[in-house]
Amino acid sequence: MDKKKVCGQRSQWKKIKSVDKMRLSKNFTMEELCRSATAERHGIRNWPATEDEEHKVRENLRYLCFDVLQPLRDYVGRPIIVNSGYRTKEVNRLVGGVNNSQHLTGEAADLRIESTKQGREWAEWIMDNCDFDQMLLESNGKSVWLHVSAKRDKELNRRVFKKMKV
Ligand SMILES: [Zn+2]
Repeated sequence: MDKKKVCGQRSQWKKIKSVDKMRLSKNFTMEELCRSATAERHGIRNWPATEDEEHKVRENLRYLCFDVLQPLRDYVGRPIIVNSGYRTKEVNRLVGGVNNSQHLTGEAADLRIESTKQGREWAEWIMDNCDFDQMLLESNGKSVWLHVSAKRDKELNRRVFKKMKV
């Protein structure tokens, strides 16, 4: 990605900072990115605990949507299901997430994919078109998903892509 494009995106990002608190981008909402089947099963709320935290998480999620999820959604041309976006500490522990998971800050999302092949295709598109931080094709033996993260401070993005043999 060339520098000019990144700068252009940056100013666009500032303009988008928005209006509707719950809408993160054209096709993604805060509810969607905070939904957790595990939390529902355990009857707990998967939502930032304080207003400050909510603000921070929302901005991070909004950036993730702006930088990766919405462009990918536009490319794919149909809905993308987010298995897991933001997670509270408790929910992260319940799903076996690592302590420093980017899900805790709203910087990461796990995208439902139909196959490893589709995951690779999406991952390659993201590689070429987005300024992501980390991307992993993950599997629990039963299903596969694409984990992708982005940091608002682009300088900190690692741009890691590990290809997993699944
Ligand atoms: Zn993940």
